[in-house]
Amino acid sequence: MSERFTETLHDDYAQSLGVAKVLYDNNSSLQHIQVFENDRFGRVLTLDGVVQTTQGDEFIYHEMLTHVPILAHGNATRVLVIGGGDGGMAREVLRHKSVEKVTMVEIDEGVVAFSKTYLPSLSNGAFDNPRLDLVIADGANFMATSTDEFDVIIIDSTDPVGPGEVLFTDSFYGHAKRRLAKDGVLVTQNGVPFMQPSELTGTMRAFQKLFADWGCYIASIPTYTGGPMAFGWGSDSSKARDVDVAVLTKRLEAAGLDLGYYTPSVHKAAFSLPRYIEKLLP
Ligand code: SAM
Repeated sequence: MSERFTETLHDDYAQSLGVAKVLYDNNSSLQHIQVFENDRFGRVLTLDGVVQTTQGDEFIYHEMLTHVPILAHGNATRVLVIGGGDGGMAREVLRHKSVEKVTMVEIDEGVVAFSKTYLPSLSNGAFDNPRLDLVIADGANFMATSTDEFDVIIIDSTDPVGPGEVLFTDSFYGHAKRRLAKDGVLVTQNGVPFMQPSELTGTMRAFQKLFADWGCYIASIPTYTGGPMAFGWGSDSSKARDVDVAVLTKRLEAAGLDLGYYTPSVHKAAFSLPRYIEKLLP
């Protein structure tokens, strides 16, 4: 295998993946979109030179950003996804039959269009699900102008560069808090703390001002390279974070989900942080 994809997220460190076959390489009106086959991870989606998701390890990321807040909440019927153009997050949320409506706000319809063609296993029919309301818009504008309320809000954005930058601001988080219903939970893709420490600290400073219960949890996703990824957690619920394994187990059984990474014990353990990540929290 001669051709390789080298990620451009960091100037001084890069992961490189073998390219067995290029499936798509084009610019939408907003981003450079590439999809290629890799022998180990299957199909890989990159935006502006940064790995977004791969068939091989997407289950870890999508399970931990959906089932943790939804099962902790216990009665989520309205879920908002910001970003998530590949459809993986919507797919995983829609597996919860208790969820009546998923609103997905994606800025780049080009990501949705090619994901349907080149990455159909990620959305797995989510885009045709009547419970999904797909909105093509900037998530920041949506959050500032919407009057809807949500039980769970998931920020499945790119990194804070390009169109994703606005999704890491205090004003965006403030608007998100106002969109949360009582006892609602906000979770965010917050980068790999070992590589992007200030990204997590910035979000946590904002959450500390906004929420009674704030913090983060972690999971390791191989192609989000450099150590575990952090997921921001913000809620005014006094119960959601502390739901115990027995209750989570009952809720998971009721949901009837056969998963690849998430378990109630993994859920609880994910909030135990290594010291270097704890130190990044204000
Ligand atoms: N799993 C990936 C990660 O952790 O980096 C994120 C995957 S998903 C493909 C990221 C999505 O966020 C992309 O489809 C991108 O178009 C979308 N996005 C970026 N900025 C946005 C914005 N301001 N509003 C809505 N969607 C945005």
